[in-house]
Amino acid sequence: MLTAHLPAGYVLARGLRAPDRRAMGAALLGSVVPDFDLIFFYLVDDRAFHHHRYWVHIPAFWAAVALVALPLLWRTVWRLPALFFFAAILLHLILDSLAGSIMWLAPFDDGLYALVTVPPTRSHWILSFMLHWTFIAELAIWGCALALFYRRSAR
Ligand SMILES: [Zn+2]
Repeated sequence: MLTAHLPAGYVLARGLRAPDRRAMGAALLGSVVPDFDLIFFYLVDDRAFHHHRYWVHIPAFWAAVALVALPLLWRTVWRLPALFFFAAILLHLILDSLAGSIMWLAPFDDGLYALVTVPPTRSHWILSFMLHWTFIAELAIWGCALALFYRRSAR
């Protein structure tokens, strides 16, 4: 997914009726935090390998973090934000699996799994993704997010 992670986090938070700004903020942060690896990808590793191979894009890593964090936060005011945060991360990984690829079976298998493979039909990979039918999903997410946002603003 190229552009729709943040609006997807917004749609998730609105859909799950985030009760306050803390939960909404956690959902928005969780919706983009796996892509923070792009900083390392471009500035440190010089694009040496697919950024979906970094630990922040590995579901087992986040499952382990959630397994530790959720019990610790359960009786605090951070329980709900933590749930929204991890739900948004899961949504990020699912959306990345549409036309990208995720190591769903790591650490048992290091294969990258995607529902659809976008062929390199254009001069740049971003153009290939934007002109592939799967980009409709991104546009639909943006449309939902904007509709929810303006409907809320109109009240
Ligand atoms: Zn990602």
